[in-house]
Amino acid sequence: MHRLQLGEFELSVFSDGTYPLDGGAFFGVVPKVMWSRRVAADDRNYVTTGLNSLLIRTEGPRTGKQTVLVETGMGNKLSDRMVKIYRQPAQLLDNLAAGGVAPEDIDIVINSHLHFDHCGWNTVRDKNGKIVPTFPRAKYYAPEGEWQYARHPSERDSISFISENYDPLVESGQMTLLKGGEEIVPGISVRTFPGHTAHMQAIVIRGSQNPHSRDVSQAPTACYISDLIPTTAHIDLAWGMGFDLYPLQTIESKKQYYAQAVPEKWLTVFTHDPKTPWAYVERDELGKMVARGV
Ligand SMILES: [Zn+2]
Repeated sequence: MHRLQLGEFELSVFSDGTYPLDGGAFFGVVPKVMWSRRVAADDRNYVTTGLNSLLIRTEGPRTGKQTVLVETGMGNKLSDRMVKIYRQPAQLLDNLAAGGVAPEDIDIVINSHLHFDHCGWNTVRDKNGKIVPTFPRAKYYAPEGEWQYARHPSERDSISFISENYDPLVESGQMTLLKGGEEIVPGISVRTFPGHTAHMQAIVIRGSQNPHSRDVSQAPTACYISDLIPTTAHIDLAWGMGFDLYPLQTIESKKQYYAQAVPEKWLTVFTHDPKTPWAYVERDELGKMVARGV
């Protein structure tokens, strides 16, 4: 169980399981002779990919009592064809239940972007086949630019969008669309990092360590950086995913992220890492990026 305290926030990782992804697609232009030193592939060239959600619990004068779920995995509504490819592990609700968290406990759900493996448990089908919110009391948030794009995706990535994961929530008013930069709960905000998609938003969690200090740079910080840096094997600037729509922007966004996250010692949460869901990214003596475990 991955759990730690960050200021007044208790962070824990809950997985929706793992799924197979083509190693070439996962590492883009990086040659297999290089990535296979970091990640093992099976005989069909698939690598094991995690589906990490972040649960944030907080109770205090600044935030009130809140339970926030960042990202909702792949869910259980894939078509038969997609189940054949991705296997649909669908473990998130069971794992939350094992950790004592019921769907009704979630106050807020935040999606970094709307690819099907990041917002799958936003909704479920009820016994009549109707799409309903999985977390009935929750306010949902997702980037507005993502939602606009998802209505008219390109031929290249239209397979990545399942409208049942978000459109019913937008229509009912349960999902709020974000421009980027909003603070959703005091200390929890979103920031746009283009590259993987044009509007993907990272979720930044800033704890207030010392209630008497006004220096926010002293606050311990974590960031759910989502598909900008999906695993610890992707921390090099040029190691982007083949799925990235704007690979040069991925590099610029990673530079921007590291310029703040490395000196301020942010904890980085890796959405697709099956073994290391979070770590501190540092620069070693040779200038190479390394992930230091918690
Ligand atoms: Zn994605």
